Amino acid sequence: MKDLQTVLVDWEAVIGLEVHTELTTLNTKMFCSCPIEFGAKPNTHVCPVCLGLPGALPVPNKAAIQSIVLAGLATNCEIMKRSMFYRKNYFYPDMSKNYQITQGPVAFCMHGGLELEVNGLAAKERSHLEGTQSLEGNADGDPGADDYKAVIGYMTRIGITRIHMEEDAGKMIHVGGSSGRITDADYSLVDYNRCGTPLIELVTEPDLRTPEEARLFLQKLRQIYLTLGISDCSMEEGSLRCDGNVSLRRRGSTELGTKTELKNMNSFKNLHDGLAYEICRQAEVLESGGTVRQETRHWEPGAKRTITMRVKETADDYRLFPDPDLAPYDLSDEFIQSVRDRLPELPDAKKQRFVSDFGLPTADADNLATDVDLSAFFDEALRGAGAQAAELAKPIANLLLNDVSAWLNANGIGFESLKAGPVSAKGLVELSSLVLSDEISSKQAKEVFSAMIETGDSPAAIVEARGLKQVSDSGEIERIVLGIMSQYPEKVAEYQAGKTGLIGFFVGQAMKATSGQGNPKLINEIFTEKLQEA
Ligand code: ADP
Ligand code: MG
Ligand code: ZN
Repeated sequence: MKDLQTVLVDWEAVIGLEVHTELTTLNTKMFCSCPIEFGAKPNTHVCPVCLGLPGALPVPNKAAIQSIVLAGLATNCEIMKRSMFYRKNYFYPDMSKNYQITQGPVAFCMHGGLELEVNGLAAKERSHLEGTQSLEGNADGDPGADDYKAVIGYMTRIGITRIHMEEDAGKMIHVGGSSGRITDADYSLVDYNRCGTPLIELVTEPDLRTPEEARLFLQKLRQIYLTLGISDCSMEEGSLRCDGNVSLRRRGSTELGTKTELKNMNSFKNLHDGLAYEICRQAEVLESGGTVRQETRHWEPGAKRTITMRVKETADDYRLFPDPDLAPYDLSDEFIQSVRDRLPELPDAKKQRFVSDFGLPTADADNLATDVDLSAFFDEALRGAGAQAAELAKPIANLLLNDVSAWLNANGIGFESLKAGPVSAKGLVELSSLVLSDEISSKQAKEVFSAMIETGDSPAAIVEARGLKQVSDSGEIERIVLGIMSQYPEKVAEYQAGKTGLIGFFVGQAMKATSGQGNPKLINEIFTEKLQEA
């Protein structure tokens, strides 16, 4: 099979995503008051409504409607003032009422879109496209990993067809067999706890063109949902699930090709790799004169291939019709406005603010703003920095993105656990201002940071206890500088004869004389001054 880069020279990939998100932060299910709890004892959170027993009447959960409207507003959708609930009829043992409540042609949220910024390595999958970017620094004529660093990014808008509300099904566990699927299981167990959990499904227009764009889109959407606080968006636990639809067409063609659908991609990497494989597979089929079958396929990350799950020969007939138990749902202007008023600052706006208010480089601002916990921590730290905020922003951002990130990664923990850990926002402010005021060097700051993690003590206490104070007394440094100059008269002469690189040697001597506690910036300045005078 050809590789993705090669395939994408002749073929254009067309990708659309369907993203299911469980509204896990709500207390109760969509149409009943059963609690939502991941990992509860099977079949303990069920009632006549979510089991669909005859005569039970569903009542929509208003908090869930608020969540979907938040999602719609945050993704630039039009909020429909009247929409309806429909029944989608099908039989499967994980759904005891034999139909799923979903929405019809008009959903709560329609016609939205998100701007996607594709940079650096992520842009390379589109690097052959006219007018987007060129491979710079490709001196050897052979594009390698290093060359792609120079790829310039691009912006692209991804349309959102709709976001509709539906209810989740239960969960099955297939026992025995080798595939973990129902087809060869000895028997299957069913847990109805998840039945009736509110789910929002976002469907994109077929506007994505590369697996990287698909990955970035899903990451961006996840950060928006996390910022809104409507779901924990855990791909491992299945509260965020994504289907990838993909087809190919010859570059220049505007017709859509036949698509295949990859179901339930459970990580960003799987979504990317599954789509990349599928693009290459389809290209091979088409180039050998075959036709792509419209089917649902399953990505096997271990074997690195997709396999047929089911073939769609005719459209599924779900006999969709308006649910007679549920009246059309009307949203008042006041309600929509009250949700709009609750919209938090979204990652893109946060990034802009970090750049304009604190002068952070775009890349740093992006890294901070795209993580909801990290950016909250950063903001908390800067609020605590008061008048020093503008000066401390960059050093604090550096600490968070380097030292703190490295420490969290090494321990396999996420930013959400920062709040409870030994490193407080206040501690980081203290540490950064010690560096800013030259009391400790940035090298010493690393030592203090390690000690903060180990002991939970404040930076000031650690500096005190370890005698780490940087020598910034210019009188004392001047004495040391003059002492070293008289010790090495021949080096002074060489320096004055033009060998200015010797400054490193002099500073090194002074650092040794101060047991590493001299302020290197100050030492450098005083040496330069004295050596020129001498
Ligand atoms: P289905 O009825 O098969 O579920 P939909 O029309 O609902 O198909 O579209 C599902 C998703 O597939 C959407 O995200 C849509 O943008 C995308 N899609 C539709 N047609 C194509 C195509 N030819 N190639 C790639 N993606 C497509
Ligand atoms: Mg579909
Ligand atoms: Zn219930």
